[in-house]
Amino acid sequence: MQRLKDKIRNIPDFPEAGIQFKDITPLLKDPSTLRLAVHQLIFPYLGEEITAVAGMEARGFIFGSLVAWELGVSFVPLRKPGKLPSSVETASYDLEYGSSNLEIHTDALSKDDRVLLIDDLIATGGTAAASCQLIEKLGAEVAACAFIVELDELKGREQLSGYRVHSLLHY
Ligand code: AMP
Repeated sequence: MQRLKDKIRNIPDFPEAGIQFKDITPLLKDPSTLRLAVHQLIFPYLGEEITAVAGMEARGFIFGSLVAWELGVSFVPLRKPGKLPSSVETASYDLEYGSSNLEIHTDALSKDDRVLLIDDLIATGGTAAASCQLIEKLGAEVAACAFIVELDELKGREQLSGYRVHSLLHY
């Protein structure tokens, strides 16, 4: 895990004063550590029936797609407002910096789906909680939520009570 931690760069005061931004681009630049991270994300769910991976814009797209590819299942993008062209469900959430909505195509999932939710980082947990709402609005089940990084002091996990939550690195 130290190998993985070494590839997460801390950028103080980005995008605004007081935020310690965890930059995952050094991890993306290192293929063997990236592969390790994807395998570690998947490991707890091997042997379970997962039918789809959902990832939040934007960095959840990167890790979510890799996880979906590795599991051989669908990838469902959860997007910022106005980006998805067909009919959508919407959920709102608060960020560590600001607030926004997240959308999913209404035909992206159905009641037969068991979904692994993936993002790079959980901070306050608002994004992940809204994502779980979107998955459930379509009748699908949230199998678990998995993150590369968890910012423990923001207690995001508390927003996800009742869901299985797994993070590779804790700060
Ligand atoms: P939250 O809804 O507060 O859990 O915020 C999580 C989302 O915001 C994730 O999609 C992260 O990519 C992004 N994010 C929030 N805080 C940070 C941070 N300190 N460093 C990097 N990304 C962050």
